[in-house]
Amino acid sequence: MPVDNSRLEGFYKLPVSERREMLAEIANLKKEHVEAWSSNGELDEDSADRMIEKVIGTYSLPIGVATNFIIDGDHYLIPFVLEEPSVVAAASNMAKRCLANGGFTSNNDDPIMIGQIQIVGCKNPEMAKTEILASKNELIERCNSVDPILVKFGGGCRDIEVRIIDTDSGPMVIVHILVDCRDAMGANAVNTMAETIEPTIEAISKGTVILRIISNLAVHRLARVSAIFTPEEMSESGDDEARGLEIIDGVVQAYHFAKADPYRATTHNKGIMNAISSVALACGQDWRAIESGAHSYATYKNPCPECNCSNCKTYGSLTKWEKNSEDNLVGSIELPMAVGLVGGAVRVHPAAQANVALIGVESADDLAKVIAASGLAQNLGALRALATVGIQAGHMKLHVRNMAVTAGAEDSEVDIVASRLRDSGARITQAAVIEALEQLRIE
Ligand code: NAD
Repeated sequence: MPVDNSRLEGFYKLPVSERREMLAEIANLKKEHVEAWSSNGELDEDSADRMIEKVIGTYSLPIGVATNFIIDGDHYLIPFVLEEPSVVAAASNMAKRCLANGGFTSNNDDPIMIGQIQIVGCKNPEMAKTEILASKNELIERCNSVDPILVKFGGGCRDIEVRIIDTDSGPMVIVHILVDCRDAMGANAVNTMAETIEPTIEAISKGTVILRIISNLAVHRLARVSAIFTPEEMSESGDDEARGLEIIDGVVQAYHFAKADPYRATTHNKGIMNAISSVALACGQDWRAIESGAHSYATYKNPCPECNCSNCKTYGSLTKWEKNSEDNLVGSIELPMAVGLVGGAVRVHPAAQANVALIGVESADDLAKVIAASGLAQNLGALRALATVGIQAGHMKLHVRNMAVTAGAEDSEVDIVASRLRDSGARITQAAVIEALEQLRIE
C-alpha cells in the first residue's frame, strides 16, 4: 500500500537511523526491511556469490528517499540509489510544486514485451511472412504452453507480427512475439517462448532461425505520466505569479532546445535517467534494460526537426513541456518501462525488497508509473534550475561536503567547512574548499 502522507517536514534534518525508524512506522515496514537499509544487513556474501560469477565482494551506494510524490491520488515515498548529490532534493522539491492540481497522473500501456526471432536464408521472404502470419494461432498456443504460470496470472503471448528488413547480409524475416508479462520484466519468459517456437518457425518459413531474444525497445509497454504546475508553484516564493510565468517560459524554451538539438537532448535525458536509473536500481530492476529502451525510444519517437518526414528520426527529449491556456506548465513523460516484481534481483536482494515495500507498489504497472513520475520531476528540477540560477548553485551547495572530503577534511571538519562556504555566498570551488579547510585548522 502507498503511504498516507509523503510530505515529511524536517525529514532531511534527522539522523540517518531516525529517518529509517520514521519510514518504518509510516510505511508499516518489517524489522528485516529496516535492517536491510543499515550497512550490515544489505547483501550478504553468500547471496552475492549466488547472484553473479567470480564474486569478490559487494559495493555500496547511498539510498535516499524522495518525498512529496502524489501519483493518481496516492502518496509515495521513493527510494533512489545513486552517488550524485542534489538529485533526491530536486525531485522532492519539484514533486511538491504540482500539488495544487493533484500531483502526477499516469496512463500506462499493458505490460507487453517484444521477443524477436531472426530468420535468414528465406528464398521468398514475402511468402515466409504470409505463411507465418497464417500460423499465428498455433504459434501463440505453443508460446503459451511453456509458461502456464504466466498464463495463470493473466499474461501470455498475445500476438505475432512479421517484418522484412534489408541488412548487409541480405533480406531477413523478423518475427515479433508480443507477450503480456504481467508483473515480470519478462526477459526470461519471452526468450524461452522465442526459443520454443524456433523449430515451427523454421518449418513454416523454410529459412534458418538464428537469434531468439527479447527487444528492449519495448514500444508496447510505455509508461506515461503527466503533471500540471501553476505559475505560483513554479516561483521561488510559491506565490509570485509573474515570476512563475517567467520561469515557465524558460522551462518551455529549455525543452524546445532539447527537442531540436541532440547534443542538448542527451544531457536533458541524462537528467531524467538520474532519477529513473536510481529508482530502478533501488528496486532491484535491470536498469541497463530500462536505459537502453529509453535512449532508443528517444530516437524512435522523435522525427528529425529539420525535415519532419516519417523516415528520418533524431535523438530527442523523453519529456514534453508546454504552457496550457491557463498559463500553467504541463509536463509529460513517455518511455518504455520494462520492470517486474517477480524474477530478477527484486526477490533476492534484501535492500531491493525493503525499497519496494517502502514504495508500497503491488504491481509492475504501479512501479512503472512511480519510476516515470520520478523522471519527470527530476527533469523539471534540472530545467528550472538551468532556466534560472544555473545548475551549479544548488548542486555545489550539496556537493560541497564531498569536496571537503576530497580536500582531506576529517569527519569533524566536513560540516564546518561546508557550512562556512555555503554561508559565504562565494562561488564554491575546490580551491575555496581547500582554503576554508586550511583556515579552520589555523583557528
Ligand atoms: P523470471 O523468469 O525470473 O520470472 C518470470 C516468471 O515468473 C514468469 O515467466 C512466470 O512464469 C512467473 N510468474 C509468477 N508470478 C508472475 C506474475 N504475477 N506475473 C508474471 N509472471 C509471473 O524473470 P523475467 O522477468 O522473465 O526475466 C527478468 C530477468 O531477465 C532480469 O534479471 C533481467 O536482467 C534478465 N535478462 C534481461 C535481458 C534483457 O533485458 N535484454 C536478457 C536476458 C535476461
